[in-house]
Amino acid sequence: MSATTTLILLGGSGDLSSRLLMPALGQLLTRQRDRHVQLIGVGSDDLSPDEWTERVRASFDAADASGESVETVLKETRYEKRDVTDAEELTAILDMAEADPAIYFALPPSVTMKACQALETITPLPQGTVLALEKPFGTDQPSADALNEQLLKLVPEEQVHRVDHFLGHSTVLNLLGLRFANRVFEPLWSRDHIEKVEIVYDEQLGLEGRAGYYDNAGALIDMIQSHLLQVLSVFAMEPPATTDAVDLRDAKAAVLRATHVFDDDVRAYSHRARYTAGSVAGRDFPSYVDEEGVDPSRNTETLAQVTFEVRNWRWAGVPFTLRSGKALGSRRREIQVTFLPAPHVPHGFSGSSDRDVMTIALAPDEMSLEVNVNGPGDPWRLDRASLEVTFGEGELKAYGEVIESILDGDPSLSVRGDSAAQMWRIVAPVIEAWRSGEVPLEEYETGSAGPGDWKV
Ligand code: NDP
Repeated sequence: MSATTTLILLGGSGDLSSRLLMPALGQLLTRQRDRHVQLIGVGSDDLSPDEWTERVRASFDAADASGESVETVLKETRYEKRDVTDAEELTAILDMAEADPAIYFALPPSVTMKACQALETITPLPQGTVLALEKPFGTDQPSADALNEQLLKLVPEEQVHRVDHFLGHSTVLNLLGLRFANRVFEPLWSRDHIEKVEIVYDEQLGLEGRAGYYDNAGALIDMIQSHLLQVLSVFAMEPPATTDAVDLRDAKAAVLRATHVFDDDVRAYSHRARYTAGSVAGRDFPSYVDEEGVDPSRNTETLAQVTFEVRNWRWAGVPFTLRSGKALGSRRREIQVTFLPAPHVPHGFSGSSDRDVMTIALAPDEMSLEVNVNGPGDPWRLDRASLEVTFGEGELKAYGEVIESILDGDPSLSVRGDSAAQMWRIVAPVIEAWRSGEVPLEEYETGSAGPGDWKV
């Protein structure tokens, strides 16, 4: 059996813990049966030991978790009703840890900051303490800088995990493998051959009862700021020497530092809209403004689209359009790369001479390359053909990879502090322009493709 690791879920009684983190732990322990984890849940609810164990069991059941390690956790796990903003109460929790703890802040962001301030007074923290934080990481660049500063008073940067469950190990490695393990792709990966890149995460789902969070965030912050800019940074990075955390995170940070709204023109290159009533995938949705818990005066967008540019030698002038929205007619989760046209198609050919398009689907990870090929029968005629491949699926689901990385102290998947602040810096002009009404809030019907005149 491997050494014990201690996972402390601050906010163990909350939604994130029961719906995502504990099922992920169950999945991990089912796959890795010799892993031994001490699980401590902390919350402000009064839960009896049995009630807590039942919650953990329900989360494990949701992930079909089984095996000896799972049973051991169920037998040994404990819940503490504590105020995590109080240093003495936090000390009492840390004293229960059998090993250097991984502390997961599954808390409202304001409580997380207070808990970090309280932790500062507990010195020293156990040397190998790992801190895991959820999105949103701050609310703008100054608050992200302040949170970074606070965290670095507690542990070194490598021990801080700013969780991005969206970009799992397999997706990052699939992207890097495709580009850097194939001679045919990497030489084309620049402004010399690529006309535009679109990174799209369109969902058919609506609010799903999460107005409390979403109505304050909106599609721009929920997806583009938090996740899609990370996808852009992996797509556009310079070749890293290794896949370790230092090389990967350096390469991603360099891309983010060079990323700006295209032409610095927020009015021309950003769009926002919210859905009106309709149906999608057999479900009826009311208008967003009529959803429970929504404050229409907040003008929260449920669909956001912004075009950025990466101002460096490789990418200058190439539009990177990032888009994400809810209640849309089709589910689309992909990076679409449109190549420049062939410089000269020999005279004599007829038919398609469209640009080559590579589509890299995210979750499940697949790739297709649309090219022009000589059609059957008439060899002078060019037709479109699609070459398709499915990448092997990762063993663990997204949050399983997150929990594994945290327990193993491997920060390669997490967002480094400077990148987290850069992601706010990049979207700041968009947030400002939207707040001041410079960019109109449009509408689209649930189940549609979004406003008709947006170019993606
Ligand atoms: P919830 O409101 O469901 O849970 C918050 C938890 O914090 C509860 O367990 C609550 O305890 C506990 N808590 C609050 N204040 C204190 C305190 N002073 N001392 C001890 N415990 C306290 O929120 P979520 O689980 O939804 O979200 C948590 C974090 O995760 C947020 O930052 C959110 O943005 C982020 N997130 C959530 C996602 C989700 O799907 N839920 C997805 C991605 C990120 P109690 O209930 O016992 O009062």
